[in-house]
Amino acid sequence: MQAIGTKRSRQREKIYQVLKKTVAHPTAEWVYEQVRTQMPRVSLGTVYRNLHILTAQGKIQELDFGEGLHRYDATVNQHYHFVCEHCGIVMDLDVPPQQDLHDRVRDLVPGKVTGHRLDFFGVCTACLSKS
Ligand SMILES: [Zn+2]
Ligand SMILES: [Zn+2]
Repeated sequence: MQAIGTKRSRQREKIYQVLKKTVAHPTAEWVYEQVRTQMPRVSLGTVYRNLHILTAQGKIQELDFGEGLHRYDATVNQHYHFVCEHCGIVMDLDVPPQQDLHDRVRDLVPGKVTGHRLDFFGVCTACLSKS
């Protein structure tokens, strides 16, 4: 017996798997292009909606690096990013979460600190070698 919503949950699972397989921190458009190769009838709106649901469920995180669009990351444990200001590539940084910084800020903030993000900006090696 097929449950109602099977198609929707299949689409959501596919979107999640696409994100799981990449370290590129892609945009919704990129995810859409990937999913479409296997599910030709999926719409960009469906991809957006499912990305929001997956974010709300805490299975993925939505990132904003001030580019005017969102990027998505299936790695939800705390980690930091390096963003190339030339090509826009986003890389995960292999550094442990800075608990001392967190504690210091927590003591400074007039309120409750629930988490923090840290983004580094610069130029990646590929872009450096081109200039
Ligand atoms: Zn670059
Ligand atoms: Zn990441």
